[in-house]
Amino acid sequence: MSPHPKTTCVAIRSPRGARITEIDWADGHKGFYPHTILRGYCPCAACQGHAGGPLSFIETTDSQRELDDIAQIGNYALQLTWFDGHASGIYSYTFLRALCHCETCRGSQAP
Ligand SMILES: [Zn+2]
Ligand SMILES: [Zn+2]
Repeated sequence: MSPHPKTTCVAIRSPRGARITEIDWADGHKGFYPHTILRGYCPCAACQGHAGGPLSFIETTDSQRELDDIAQIGNYALQLTWFDGHASGIYSYTFLRALCHCETCRGSQAP
């Protein structure tokens, strides 16, 4: 699997206590991820229930929107650990790229 610039993460900025994470992609795109969205679309089975179909958006409380840790999984995904201890969400770079909420991406996506 050769890394594609659009789905290759080069830097992650997620200041402790912040509610926003920024990811720089190898093609120069600056990804913007409010934690409401990031946690709201947690792709793990516990959050999403049975597999299949589009991801559903989950309402979160404030402590569920604070990131405790970010771990890189190989060169294809991030595992996010949230302040409430939830750590089963594996966010592939392809998924994260699609989830980007910067002004450009938000404008090109369906509401
Ligand atoms: Zn989850
Ligand atoms: Zn974007």
